[in-house]
Amino acid sequence: MCDNRDMESFHHEPRKRHARLRHQPQSAPLWVGDPDDWALVRHEPRPPLVCPEPGCDVELISYENLSNKYNPRIFKLKSVDRSCDHWSDRGQGGGPETAQHEWMKLRLTRIARKLGYTATPEHAQTHADVFVLEASLCLEVQLVPTQFGKRTAARRAKGTTVCWLIREGLDTVRAENPIHGSDQQSCPPGAPAVIVTHHVPEVRLPVDHAGRRVAPAVPA
Ligand SMILES: [Zn+2]
Repeated sequence: MCDNRDMESFHHEPRKRHARLRHQPQSAPLWVGDPDDWALVRHEPRPPLVCPEPGCDVELISYENLSNKYNPRIFKLKSVDRSCDHWSDRGQGGGPETAQHEWMKLRLTRIARKLGYTATPEHAQTHADVFVLEASLCLEVQLVPTQFGKRTAARRAKGTTVCWLIREGLDTVRAENPIHGSDQQSCPPGAPAVIVTHHVPEVRLPVDHAGRRVAPAVPA
């Protein structure tokens, strides 16, 4: 049976997975998927947080509900009177993301930052899993089949380049046709840790099922 009240609050309460420290307007958005960021926002006394969108100062609070299996950490509006739709929790319709997917996004973000790039996980404007600013590059982690061609075109229409990081063994017909059937495109030479093969830029990832960590990316 459907609980309408819960459905209503889910749809109408803007929640975010990013926030910014109020007193550091230039800082990168903090992300619920980064344990270091979460430790920072949960530090006592709690630092004041606002929406990460430049110029928007809608106040946010960090909220943790460990009984929520899929979204235990979230940023909520501090006041019911002030709201915005920036950086809203996208919930892409494909169900909750897996821990593997989230871990990969964090790993890629840290690798790119270590290489000196400005990297943003779950980037609001491009919907990239990780957006690398200097290379205008969308890194997309894909562990299940998707519409690679269509989603690649959507990223390119926004003026960005895309590289897919694809689970090794994702070799169904549904997955393979779009990968190999698109036009030739390569990643920019400055892009971090990216090997281009076939037609849609992709990197194959051996992903372990037994609870061990995701292995490093290897060239396809
Ligand atoms: Zn905002």
